Amino acid sequence: MIKQQLEAMLQQAQDALTGADSEAALQEVRVRFLGRKGELTAIMKEMGQLSSEDRPLIGALANRIKEELERTIDVRGEALRRAEISRRLVSERIDVTLPGRRSFAGSKHPITLVAEEIGEIFTSLGFAVEEGPEVEKDFYNFEALNIPKDHPARDMQDTFYISDEVVLRTHTSPVQVRTMLQQPPPVRVIAPGTVYRRDSDITHSPMFHQIEGFWVDRGITFGDLKGVLTAFVTQFFGNGVGVRFRPSFFPFTEPSAEVDIQCVICGGKGCRVCKNSGWLEILGSGMIDPEVFRSVNYDPELYTGFAFGMGLERIAMLKYGVSDLRLFFDNDVRFLRQFGV
Ligand SMILES: [Zn+2]
Repeated sequence: MIKQQLEAMLQQAQDALTGADSEAALQEVRVRFLGRKGELTAIMKEMGQLSSEDRPLIGALANRIKEELERTIDVRGEALRRAEISRRLVSERIDVTLPGRRSFAGSKHPITLVAEEIGEIFTSLGFAVEEGPEVEKDFYNFEALNIPKDHPARDMQDTFYISDEVVLRTHTSPVQVRTMLQQPPPVRVIAPGTVYRRDSDITHSPMFHQIEGFWVDRGITFGDLKGVLTAFVTQFFGNGVGVRFRPSFFPFTEPSAEVDIQCVICGGKGCRVCKNSGWLEILGSGMIDPEVFRSVNYDPELYTGFAFGMGLERIAMLKYGVSDLRLFFDNDVRFLRQFGV
């Protein structure tokens, strides 16, 4: 009786395995027939009714059935795994003849590009490049530039103070002082670099970049200033662009002039960017004040010179038509990639 039950169970189990089409279905069959509460266990509970001669025979049969089912489950499982692999090989086939995805090699930052281009123009005009520290002594940043401690011009610049005598430089002009203290005239230098001010909005960043330039020699005049800066503007912004010099004030130059170019957006007709004036301010300049010469031991009776400075972010915004300064510092590669070569 138990023998027939066992054989019938084996048949049922094999039918169920043939129909099992996933690992999970196989496990279900295993649990149903071979599990601790499975059918085989249930049948074997009746072993007690058997005679002592039949008991070992039925026990051996039960073991054979168990082994056979285990083997069938293994074989079926292996077949299912192979089928899955074949299916994936077909569905996930890679077309090796497709061109690969290009990796982006990186590009120079727009501020770097502008600094380099300005640098090239001025070196072609005979200017050398100098650099100076970003953490600067008050003397170089203010005092030697005719901006004593009580000077109202200090209010024009929101300064980061490290201590009473040490600041984060607020402009690149201290490089002017350092250079003149080291070299006698003639000097013709540009100084690009990072500067810091306590200012942050759509057109101001607490860290930004300037390029400073100056030329000191015997007989340098305001005409030289106009000639050099006009040559720069035409080379940088193109031949047709209009330039004008407007009187201004800086503590370290006298006379001083702000340089405007014709609006590169509207061509001078007037637009939102130029506030309908048709002109854009791009740099400050002037004849170096004799007081500055005295603090670097240049003889103001013998020498004259001019200096100028401009914000690289502003120049880059105008050159590339960027309307928000902060884009230069977000370092979003989607923005930066547009300036790649
Ligand atoms: Zn305009």
